[in-house]
Parts: sequence; C-alpha cells; structure tokens
Amino acid sequence: MKWKKHLYTLKPYQPGKPIDDVKREFGLTEIIKLASNENPYGYSPKVKKVLKETDWQLALYPDGGAVNLREAVSSFWGVEGNQLIFGNGSDNLIQMITKALLSPGVNTVMATGTFSQYSHNAILEQAEIREVPHVNGRHDLDGMLAQIDSNTSVVWLCSPNNPTGEYIREAELLPFLEQVPEDVLVVFDAAYYEYVTADDYPALIPLITRYKNVIILHTFSKIYGIASLRVGYGIADESIIRMLEPAREPFNVNSVAQRAAMEAISDQSFIDECRQRNREGLQAFYQFCENNQLSYYPSQGNFILMDTGYKGNEVFQYLLERGVIVRSGEALGFPTSIRVTVGSAAENALVLKELEGFLQTKKSEAAK
Ligand SMILES: *Cc1c(COP(=O)(O)O)cnc(C)c1O
Repeated sequence: MKWKKHLYTLKPYQPGKPIDDVKREFGLTEIIKLASNENPYGYSPKVKKVLKETDWQLALYPDGGAVNLREAVSSFWGVEGNQLIFGNGSDNLIQMITKALLSPGVNTVMATGTFSQYSHNAILEQAEIREVPHVNGRHDLDGMLAQIDSNTSVVWLCSPNNPTGEYIREAELLPFLEQVPEDVLVVFDAAYYEYVTADDYPALIPLITRYKNVIILHTFSKIYGIASLRVGYGIADESIIRMLEPAREPFNVNSVAQRAAMEAISDQSFIDECRQRNREGLQAFYQFCENNQLSYYPSQGNFILMDTGYKGNEVFQYLLERGVIVRSGEALGFPTSIRVTVGSAAENALVLKELEGFLQTKKSEAAK
C-alpha cells in the first residue's frame, strides 16, 4: 500500500476511557468522568423537549445548507448567513481548514501545549509544523509572528487554551493580527468562549469584520452540552467561507443535531447558569491547589491543569482505580500535571478528596 509517509508517525486519537470499561475493570458501580470537558449539567431542557417530541425523519438526508440553524446562529451573533460554516463538531472544521490550506511545502504555526487536532490534521496533509513554546500556559504571540514566513498558510490560536485554560488578551491579539500577513489564515478556536468571565478577553465579531483573514471556531460540544450530536461552526468573512465550503462534506451535520443546536442556542439562561456554577467549581479547585501548594493555571475554561509534581499517568491511574476519570498531562505536554474537567459540586468534592488521598499516600511513602 502506498500510504502517505506521514501516516506512519500518527496514532489514532486516544479518547478518554469509556465509563463502562472502567466499571468492569475495577469492579466499580459509580464512576465520574471529568476527562473531556463535557458539561456536567447536560443540556438545556428546551433541547430535551425537542428531542423527545419531534418525529425525526431519519430516512431523509439532513438539510445540507443548515438553513434554520444558520438563521438562528446568524441572528444570535448579528452576522450574515454567508459568514458561517457548519461542521460535524469543530474537529470537522479543523479538518476542512487543513484540507483547504495545508499541503507539502507549506507550513503552519501553533503553540506547544495546545489542542492536538491542529497538528494531527497538519501531519495528515504533510505540512510542516512550527510549534512555538507556550509561556506560562499562554501563547507567545511574538514568537508565533517570528515563525511566519511566505510559506505559512495557517496560524492556530486556542483561547481559552486547551489544556492550560489560559487566554489571549485583547490588547495583545490586536497588534498580533495587524502584523500577520493578509494571506495567512488565523484560526481562533473559541471552544470554551461561553465559560469566559475575563473582561480583557477579545470581542470576537469585530475581529472578523476588521480582519478578513480570521476564522472563529465555536462548538456545541462544551457548555451547550451536546457533544454526542457533533455540531460546531466557524464565523469568518464571506470570502473565507466561500473557499472552505467545497472542502465540506455535503451532509456533514445531521438533522437531529441541527434542530438540537437551534434549541440550545435559544436558551442562554441555561448557559449563564452553567457559566456561574463553573466559576464556583473552579474556586474549589484553586482553593485545593493553594492549600496543597500545587501550581496551576488560572482557567477561563471548564477545566483546570494542575501540577501535582507526580507523573500525570500515575495520578490518572490512582484516580481511575477509585472511579474518577481525568486526563493525564503526559500526552498533553505537561508530564507532571493532570487536566480535570470542572464537574458538579459533588463531583468536584469527590475528585478533590481522592486527590488529597493520593498526595497523603505519597507524603507518607516519602516519610518512610
Ligand atoms: C473540544 C474541543 C474542540 C472540538 O470540539 P467538537 O466540536 O466536539 O469537535 C475543538 N477545540 C478545542 C480547543 C476543544 O477543546
């Protein structure tokens, strides 16, 4: 077989362990999964209602143009329908962007310690990847600018950044965008946008009006709570959307997902409530880190990267055996950290209790 040679360096995405597998393996009945930044409160009651009451015409193809969802999202943001592109999750948009813009001989710039799908898809397209080390969990925008040359076609910004939770300030983003060449696409992945509470986070829509080379990515998988249905979208100048559209599969967003997403975006009080509870949850994690002298990054997302000082895989395994699934930092570029999704108050208390147990065990081992 004449596989692309870069394929030999790629592994399939390692998903968080499925709950049923963990139950079986360790003989547990209760499991909490805080590994994939899903919403612990699920989704809006309005979504629940429409899912139950609709007679889904599943024999029919979905609306390939997502007309109704497009209308809902464009009026939500105050943009035109032709400034939107929909994906089967925002992962699907990342694929379309790399398919449309990356190829051998072209390079793409991103931070180290950021969302893995940018480099994964860049490798599939055989593009050169230029990674710029993060500084305290934050993108080094000057360093990224310095890596851009005439062969650069895409720059990836993730803010809030997965897995650090750090974010790009408006005051640093604007001068950066002024300097990026107009023929380089800047992808601004705002998957955790709805969790942000920082005042100096950039206003997003003015960006795409002012800079015709920016695309903002959003998802319904995180705060909107419908990860399983797979819906994401990009917002950009119409000239960008027009070029990306041919790289989109014709029926990439299914009809259940389209309808559910419309309901989800119409219920902003659910979103506000989730944002608020997430803040309270984060405070519990911060307090724990302070009490145990663990370093962490302040987070604008619904997760926290905590440096326990012990190997991420070891902490992961300890918690797993006690029914708590988190993400080891080892595969994320933070070998002595774990990334924990902020759960419900009860889930947070449980993971922190088990983590305390781990740290105590380590302390008493060391004292022997
Ligand atoms: C979860 C996540 C995505 C992907 O979300 P889907 O819409 O479910 O594909 C994209 N970017 C970042 C940074 C994420 O954390």
